[in-house]
Amino acid sequence: MTDVTAMTATQIAGLVATGAASAVEVTQAHLDRIAAVDGRVNAFLHVDTEGALAAARDIDARRAAGAELGPLAGVPVAVKDVLTTKGVPTTVGSKILEGWRPPYDSTIVQRLRAAGTVMLGKTNMDEFAMGSSTEYSAYGPSRNPWDTDRIPGGSGGGSAAALAAYEAPLAIGSDTGGSIRQPGAVTGTVGAKPTYGGTSRYGLVAFSSSLDTPGPCARTVLDAALLHAAIGGHDPRDSTSIPAPVPDVVAAAKLGATGDLSGVRLGIVTEFGGEGAEPGVTAAFNEAVDTLTKLGAEIVEISCPHFRYALPAYYLIAPSECSSNLARFDGVRFGLRTGDDGNRSLEEVMSLTREAGFGPEVKRRIMLGTYALSSGYYDAYYGQAQKVRTLITRDFTAAFERVDALISPTTPFVAFPLGARTSDPYQMYLADLFTIPSNLYGGPGISVPCGLSEGLPVGLQVMAPTMADDRMYRVAAALESAVGTLTPPTM
Ligand code: GLN
Repeated sequence: MTDVTAMTATQIAGLVATGAASAVEVTQAHLDRIAAVDGRVNAFLHVDTEGALAAARDIDARRAAGAELGPLAGVPVAVKDVLTTKGVPTTVGSKILEGWRPPYDSTIVQRLRAAGTVMLGKTNMDEFAMGSSTEYSAYGPSRNPWDTDRIPGGSGGGSAAALAAYEAPLAIGSDTGGSIRQPGAVTGTVGAKPTYGGTSRYGLVAFSSSLDTPGPCARTVLDAALLHAAIGGHDPRDSTSIPAPVPDVVAAAKLGATGDLSGVRLGIVTEFGGEGAEPGVTAAFNEAVDTLTKLGAEIVEISCPHFRYALPAYYLIAPSECSSNLARFDGVRFGLRTGDDGNRSLEEVMSLTREAGFGPEVKRRIMLGTYALSSGYYDAYYGQAQKVRTLITRDFTAAFERVDALISPTTPFVAFPLGARTSDPYQMYLADLFTIPSNLYGGPGISVPCGLSEGLPVGLQVMAPTMADDRMYRVAAALESAVGTLTPPTM
């Protein structure tokens, strides 16, 4: 048996299904890989060795008994620490939840189990999913396997780094403004944000509830599609879950892999051009556009005039929702409590707890959001941002009357050195320039590797209409069939 850690999820599922490898062997190989490399990468906040081996043994026992196994039986998965896991620490990258062991599993984690995957552990992230580099994690940054002095993106940098370092073949992320796609782009992996409401938020610690979308991360488009199919679909426990099945993303990925895009119309957004991306990213993107043309796609330029307001609108809407959502972390119901010496008032204890438990970026967002929602400013900030959100949605709707999907670079720049953007929040926010519009609209987006710039990965983003997630998988798989997958030279 060749080293299973180098294999795709599809290959591993095949080995386990035929009995060529046991789930325990597969799991142990990945745990060994984590032990060997995670000291350098810091992708994991918690490795659930016992839980993973127990789940693997269970799969092997059920297989031996002739039971029906899930489609991803025996495939290891790493889960972003934003999703609750029963009895397994869930910190959201924050000190305020240190030591919290949730009493229930999120829907995504329940479905991962039902599909037969083996959860290896919880991955590092920017605190409360606010950030683009994992440097805002309270537990130290993750590092990019392509160059460990560089960031792996964020907020889900741990999940992306785990994939690129071959610590796991599948991972789960969450995308509010780009936190699945941007880490995918800068680590040379695949990350997909499903249609909002296509994957359940039940058990996803809330950042910005009208934007938060859990989704799949993998090293290949087909693997991402298989994971998407396994975790997606209606959930009565999430009030914004769409009561319809996930489009057939697996069939679409397989169709795309044939490398034929004839009849597919792709739009390039005029407003994303110009000064938007650094030259190496633009060059790799343009080369990918040529490739897509050779595969048969028709490329048209499309103006989406309101996209330039997406970033400022997002930085009002997301902090506003966060200031409300994070009110529940008060030292009474969860995790940390500070200064409760018997002499202080409840308000003082809450205030001291929040002062000690939240990091600077989270505090900044809470203050921005509280301000934007305050009486007298509400209409000028939050209300205005909601109007912009509607205009952006109309831009998408108009664009999708002319094209099947929109394409862009996923990020304006490749992985930057650790520390390069932490002193200026705006520079960090710019990482999501191209990903935020589809969050505001609610449609799906995927990042797929499209080449290198200065030896570092560049991602191409495909954005599709809501509930047309299959379209983006077809285009991404076609590009992947021409470009191939990327492997970091040092790993
Ligand atoms: N980087 C963006 C932010 O800081 C997006 C985060 C996300 O998608 N969770 O808000």
